[in-house]
Amino acid sequence: MSNMKEPDMAFADAVKAAGGKTLDLCYQCGTCTASCPSGRRTAFRTRQIIRKAQLGLKDDVLGSDELWMCTTCYSCVERCPREVEIVDIILLMRNMAVQKGYMADAHKKIAASLMKGGATVPFGDDMRKLRSGMGLPANPPTTIGNEKGLEEFRKIMRKTGFDKLTGVN
Ligand code: SF4
Ligand code: SF4
Repeated sequence: MSNMKEPDMAFADAVKAAGGKTLDLCYQCGTCTASCPSGRRTAFRTRQIIRKAQLGLKDDVLGSDELWMCTTCYSCVERCPREVEIVDIILLMRNMAVQKGYMADAHKKIAASLMKGGATVPFGDDMRKLRSGMGLPANPPTTIGNEKGLEEFRKIMRKTGFDKLTGVN
């Protein structure tokens, strides 16, 4: 049995059409990998994911855990000698992954927090206590303290399909 992976050049074309037009400019120098703080602690290799996208290795990219390990710090973009829009390319490939039902658990948790309170950072009793202690209203004047606003926000998210895409409601 062959271990050869099937390229899907329509995937590379779709990445370029969706905004990653600089994908082909990458000449694999590795500066991005060397600059990547996430890659220092994980198996994520920036250069490699860009190469896989160039080669049309769709399943390898969209189904991978590594796709979710970029912190969008932009160190790689600042240093890339070819001005490849690395972060934009990673983000649009994440969008494609979500459309196919792949999403990292940590990102799902953030999506759930957004649907629950209208904020990506969870807000709980500890924060309420801290705010009250500082003489502030326990809830901030955002969707957290505004039920009507929160329901309207949720309605918008449902209309965009965010709940179905992320599996949270
Ligand atoms: S730094 Fe730029 S050119 Fe070099 S490997 Fe990374 S994306 Fe490609
Ligand atoms: S933006 Fe992402 S890929 Fe680039 S250096 Fe930061 S963590 Fe690594």
